[in-house]
This record gives sequence, C-alpha cells and structure tokens, in this order.
Amino acid sequence: MSKEKISILGSTGSIGVQTLDIVRRYPNRFQVTSLVAHSRWQELAEQARSFDVESVVIGDERYYTQLKEALKDTKIEVMAGSEAINHVARSYRSDTVVNALVGYAGLHPTLLAIESGKRIALANKETLVVGGDIVMGAAKHKGVEILPIDSEHSAIMQCLEGEKRRNIRNLIITCSGGALRNIPREELASVTPEIALKHPQWSMGAKITIDSATLVNKGFEVIEARWLFDIEPERIKVVIHPQSIVHSMVEFTDGAVKAQLGTADMHTPISYALLYPERSEEAMEEFSILNYPTLSFMDVDREKYPALDIAYDCLGKGGTAACTMNGANEVAVAAFLAHKCGYLDIVETIRYALRNATFVAKPTIDDYDDANKEARELARRYLKL
Ligand code: NAD
Ligand code: MG
Repeated sequence: MSKEKISILGSTGSIGVQTLDIVRRYPNRFQVTSLVAHSRWQELAEQARSFDVESVVIGDERYYTQLKEALKDTKIEVMAGSEAINHVARSYRSDTVVNALVGYAGLHPTLLAIESGKRIALANKETLVVGGDIVMGAAKHKGVEILPIDSEHSAIMQCLEGEKRRNIRNLIITCSGGALRNIPREELASVTPEIALKHPQWSMGAKITIDSATLVNKGFEVIEARWLFDIEPERIKVVIHPQSIVHSMVEFTDGAVKAQLGTADMHTPISYALLYPERSEEAMEEFSILNYPTLSFMDVDREKYPALDIAYDCLGKGGTAACTMNGANEVAVAAFLAHKCGYLDIVETIRYALRNATFVAKPTIDDYDDANKEARELARRYLKL
C-alpha cells in the first residue's frame, strides 16, 4: 500500500510537534512531504531532515536565506512567504493537509487544500470561525473530509459515530475555565500575560492559551461546532468542567447522553483525526477513572466571560461578524502578550470592532479578507497601536 502523504502547516507549534510525534510512530503509513513554519527556521530545518521531506516553507521571508543555507546539502526545496504556503496547501504532493497555523492565516490554505480535494485535519479553528459557511460548502461540494483537531470537537465526532443526525438534541461542550477560573471578576483588570498564560490543564501555543483565559476560545469552539456538525447555535451548550477529563458530550432525543473521556492530551484527538476511521494502537498511558473520583460541572459566569455571548451573537448575526470578532481578537491578544494593553481591553477591542465594522451579510472570500483587514485596523485604532 502506498503511504499517505501529509503536509503539516505550523509544524514547529504545539499541535505541529505533537502531529509529528504521531506520524513518527507510523513510518509505514505516513510520509511527510512538506512542512511550514513561521519563523523558527532552525527547528524547521531539523524537522525537515528528520522526516526527509520534499519541501519546506518559512512564512516570514526574512529567514529564507538562513533556512536555505541550513538545508543546502539536501534536495529539500526551500520556499518562503504566504504564496508558498498556499502552494503547499494545494500541491499534488500530499493527500492530507494538517492545518495547525494560528489565526486568519489558516483560512486560505484550508480552502485551497479543499479545492484540490485533500483531506483536512483541522486544528486552525479560526478557519471555521471566520468562513465556516464557505469552507463547509466547499468541502461538501468537493466531497472532502474535515477532521477536527480540537479535543471538544473530536469528542463530539466520536460520540456521533453510528448515530443519526435527527436524533441529536444538544451538543455539550466542556470548558476548563482557563487560567483565570479562580480569579474573581474584580481582579481581572490587573491580570498580566504571565498569569493568563498559566493554563491549568493544557500546554498550548500562546494565542490559544490567552483565548482560553478570556473564553474567546470557547466562543470560537461553539462557532466551530455549528459549522462542523451543522447544528443550530441554540443547541450548543457550554459547561465549565475544571478537570478536563470529559472532553465534550452529545445529548440525544431519547435522553441518552454520550461523553468522551480521557486524559488531557492532544495526541488522542490528533491521532483520531489522522487515523480515522481507525484508532491508534499505540496507547498513551493507561487511563484510570479512579484517579478522578470527582468530576464537576458548572455554569459559565457570563459576566466574567462576556466573550462567550459575543461569539453567540456573532453566530446569530452571521455574515462577516465572527470574522470581525476574530480579527480584532488577534490584534488585541498580540497587544496583550506584548504588554501593550490590559486583559479587559481584549473584549473591549472586540466590541469596538463589531460596533464599527462594515457588515456584509453574504460574504465572498474577498469580503472576508476585507473584513479581517478592517477589524485589525479598528483594533489598532482602539488600542492606539
Ligand atoms: P503555536 O503557536 O504553538 O504554533 C503555531 C504554528 O504555526 C507554528 O509552527 C508557527 O510557526 C506557525 N505559524 C503561525 N502563523 C503562521 C503564519 N502566518 N505563517 C506560517 N506559519 C505560521 O499554536 P498551536 O497551539 O499549535 O495552535 C495551532 C492551531 O491549533 C490554532 O488555531 C489553535 O487554536 C488550534 N488548537 C490548538 C490546540 C493546542 O493544544 N495547542 C488545541 C486545539 C486547537
Ligand atoms: Mg479545544
């Protein structure tokens, strides 16, 4: 059997590195053909050698020369810039694209990969937040599978195996509550990036860790679920579950509820996406439910975490609203991480952008590009950057 060819966009990140861990365990099944990273060229060069890939792309063109030099004794093709990322996404040289880029930058590569008929293992949830309607429409049209690399959506997908859509009553997405779960609302104004980056359960990239602290991430996951599973927003619920053992649940019309449990380890959802409909035989550490005598669930404090309702509002409004929310959030999170704004400014920036942005009800891909650009400009104006 010929090997499945994989391209990994974002290979030096948290998801990218864990994806390579899985791929390494299946040398007869997968062949990595291309790797893409933003700026960490040394790591990218090491990965490229170790997996003997055909091509690499460094997103930030300033590092092209170093990367080229580092790989000069190999046959590996070295490219740079966003056009090169698009080229890899649509290249005939892969069957599957793992999209683990961060933010809006993931949208075009996902669409191009779908248009070229590739299977998509999608970590870049912003792809669906921004353009879920276009992306799912294109995937349906092309008969392409989109397999989520997000623990909640992987859990829901597992719960839905063998079930009929019409029997779904609700999707119940669990949420750890992020780094600030135990910090009272009155103290949020003084939260620093260092505090917000200390996620209790998951070790992830900086942007998603901040999104987890604000619950923007959970809002995005509601939007992601709406598109992935084609379900009305009213039937997507969110509950806080501090232990992060139940990764999400599905409630059916007969009152049965299915949940998927396991330790908080992204290797499981990544391997599920890569190997679907099979499962990894390389068990991670054995799971003992006895280690978790108490699993608790509670309602989200909507005043402490206004981002969740903003995301539901964006879903209700449709069009470019969620794209605006995403663009403003990206700028605000980067500013917060650089100590250029406060924690509470993140949501205020999103609100400002949503109030002032041009709204397009039935956007094309160009409209999304414009909405993203405008949201970023509005965010920069609001934050005086
Ligand atoms: P990360 O910051 O650790 O890694 C991002 C990777 O993408 C890096 O390799 C970086 O070089 C590359 N990259 C980012 N922007 C780029 C650009 N413009 N051009 C080229 N390369 C670029 O992020 P992460 O935590 O791995 O998250 C990746 C995606 O997966 C995000 O959308 C995130 O929301 C989602 N996700 C992550 C986790 C997790 O556990 N880390 C869980 C669920 C979903
Ligand atoms: Mg998640």
